[in-house]
Amino acid sequence: MSKPNETLDCPIHGEAYTAFICPHLADDPNQEWFCDYPSAENPWPDAKCASCHTGFTEQGASNEKAGGNLNAKKICHLCYEDGHGKSAAYLMELRQAAWEPFLSDAFSELEDKQQRLETEYKIGHSDRWDYDQRHGTILFSNAGTVVVRAAAQFIGSISTTSDTWLWSWANTSLIPGTFEDLFAVRDFGEAHRFAKLTVPMWPADEVDGWEMSAVAVKLIKAKGAYRAPGKTGFTFMSLKDVHTVS
Ligand SMILES: [Zn+2]
Ligand SMILES: [Zn+2]
Repeated sequence: MSKPNETLDCPIHGEAYTAFICPHLADDPNQEWFCDYPSAENPWPDAKCASCHTGFTEQGASNEKAGGNLNAKKICHLCYEDGHGKSAAYLMELRQAAWEPFLSDAFSELEDKQQRLETEYKIGHSDRWDYDQRHGTILFSNAGTVVVRAAAQFIGSISTTSDTWLWSWANTSLIPGTFEDLFAVRDFGEAHRFAKLTVPMWPADEVDGWEMSAVAVKLIKAKGAYRAPGKTGFTFMSLKDVHTVS
């Protein structure tokens, strides 16, 4: 297991945390990465290529006992994130024929839903929003008065500093209970081999944020999405049980 607290001096990124990947991923990150999903305890889980992964599972525990990662390459966590993120774009190219029509469906569905939200609740016109983490609700207010309440889950966020998309389930700063709906989106991504839905973070802009939101809203049957601007980008949330507060 990698030790996230250890650091190394990366020629590209300077001092950074250590992560471990197999030498084949190090040579060519543009292939499927086999690794656990990130967690607060293990943000950059050891990653393997398909053949190392197969070898690993066949040899099972004995390999693990023998040290498991004798050939693993130590790299910096930012190089790990870069490589893994780029693999998502590469793998999506191979699934384009299935992805394009699905995305286009999801996108027009989202447009209809956003239109309805705007007509019925005028969320876009409220001057403030607050997220109540304890109840998982978002409150939209005007002139200090709450006007609309909805159940909301974090979908993910776009960073305009690193130009990346980060799924909520990989965002260790979110508290439990605020993103669990999104596991269904990840499961769907696994089943359909849509790497953008399973790779935690990848190069992206705001359009990607809306696209991932469209996919999420469709799959979790939400009423729509809300894009909350922040200092370093945008956070996208799904909205369910939308109500006017009177
Ligand atoms: Zn390998
Ligand atoms: Zn690096």
